[in-house]
Amino acid sequence: MANCNGKWGGKRIVMEGDRPQGIRARLLARLEELANEERLGRDGRKVVQLDQQAVGRLSRMDALQSQAMAQAASRNRATEDRRIRAALSRLDEGEYGYCTDCGEEIAAARLDHDPAAALCISCARG
Ligand SMILES: [Zn+2]
Repeated sequence: MANCNGKWGGKRIVMEGDRPQGIRARLLARLEELANEERLGRDGRKVVQLDQQAVGRLSRMDALQSQAMAQAASRNRATEDRRIRAALSRLDEGEYGYCTDCGEEIAAARLDHDPAAALCISCARG
């Protein structure tokens, strides 16, 4: 039971200890990663366009397909980018770690798994 209390006590450290710095660093690192991937993705799309001009119809369909996949990946990155920026602004406003829907604390393990999580587990499950 004492261990259990310790765990719950530890939960507050997410907001008040030196953890926020760690979380901010993780969020910023992920933002940078996304920007790098986006740059690489752009290069990939350039290659696809060259292929399209050079080769026949079947390869053209392949190229269009990988272009569509690259575009979908790019959209996913844009979505994650927005989530991370929103989490950073919640950190600035001291609202980080609370569900944006119901206002309950988000479990530390959930934030550890996804530092940009905006919803508690029950709201996320709908
Ligand atoms: Zn909630």
